[in-house]
Amino acid sequence: MKRLSTFPLVGGMIGTGLPIHSAISQPLEEAPKRDVMKELGIRTFVNAAGTYTAMTASLMPKEVMETIQISGTQFAMLDEVQDKVGEKIAKLCHAEAATVTAGCWSAMVLGLAGVLTGTDKKKVAQLPNLEGMKNEVIVQKSHNVGYVHALTNTGVTMIEVETAQDVERAVNDKTAMMWFLNYQAPEGKIAHEEWVSLGKKHNIPTMIDMAADVPPVENLWKYNDMGFDLVCVSGGKAMKGPQSAGILMGKKDLVEAARLSAPPRGGNIGRGMKVNKEEILGMYVALEMYINKDHEKEWKSWEDKVAQIENAVKDLQSVKTEVSVPPIANHTPYLNISWDLDVIKITRAELQDKLRSGEPSIEVIGSKDNAISLTVFMLRPKEEKIVAKRIREELKAALV
Ligand SMILES: *Cc1c(COP(=O)(O)O)cnc(C)c1O
Repeated sequence: MKRLSTFPLVGGMIGTGLPIHSAISQPLEEAPKRDVMKELGIRTFVNAAGTYTAMTASLMPKEVMETIQISGTQFAMLDEVQDKVGEKIAKLCHAEAATVTAGCWSAMVLGLAGVLTGTDKKKVAQLPNLEGMKNEVIVQKSHNVGYVHALTNTGVTMIEVETAQDVERAVNDKTAMMWFLNYQAPEGKIAHEEWVSLGKKHNIPTMIDMAADVPPVENLWKYNDMGFDLVCVSGGKAMKGPQSAGILMGKKDLVEAARLSAPPRGGNIGRGMKVNKEEILGMYVALEMYINKDHEKEWKSWEDKVAQIENAVKDLQSVKTEVSVPPIANHTPYLNISWDLDVIKITRAELQDKLRSGEPSIEVIGSKDNAISLTVFMLRPKEEKIVAKRIREELKAALV
């Protein structure tokens, strides 16, 4: 026995009855999971900014992650996954049909492709060459922003209008579609309902981009109910689905036609807009969870968190705080914090640097030279306390 305990790695048994190598090994404990972000030195941070694409937008809930993990262990036919998920999403959102796309942007490309080609496979293969097809999309001047690039990808030309009379003049036999950008609705002279009725009058399909426009949750069916032929939304923003997923929904014939330009089919303009089955299913679960959550309770928790951060800084000399809610797009409470640069000697950029390089790193929204803004809807539990403490610390340290 003495010899054995001196050389414990040499075979035989110790008094426990266990083989020596077991007796001396660690108790059964799960090995730490590999953290590749840490391994690569990728900065992770507390996101008090919002669902910015550059900041990877949102974090998927556990149920979505589990869906991705479990579905990742089995093969299935990609079209069958889309068929089954599309049916469920359509029902949830009062649409005739739906399909999961690689984000809202590709929902717009594919939706318009479907409008242009119908089910003519020769036309599908021909895009973005529009010979023999309609080639104009009508847009209000104030809605004609960078996102129209999704539409011009198909080869179309955007035709700007301002008034309903302009629309009447612009419509011709080359008009393929009328596109509406939801967040710019207050800037346009033509409102949603009138846009839809102009489309119906001239038998031109209408599409709405409402990418970042939940909450409120009702927007997921409002524009289908209103009569838009196609509705495009991001999955990875407030809905917390996979960042690279989105939804195209609307009229059955148009969604079916759109899918002809999407994987698994190739030889089309959408072949690069692939969504894997894990993300398609993850998108469905995220949507369902988003619809079923207690939105009132969530809103209250956002207000509470904003108030906590506001209360932590508002007594500092010269600091002003203001809470606001954008009426459309990222409709969630924002806190703006501003200060007098003669009293608190730190610029907005310097404060952002300090917050970024602190532990933990924090991202907020840059505003004016003497102000920052923030949102709380992407914070994980209790992170509002960290944000409040760090902003107070840095502002206080800069007090003259
Ligand atoms: C985010 C956004 C898009 C693009 O959506 P993705 O889901 O990132 O493809 C399109 N339009 C608007 C208005 C957006 O805010």
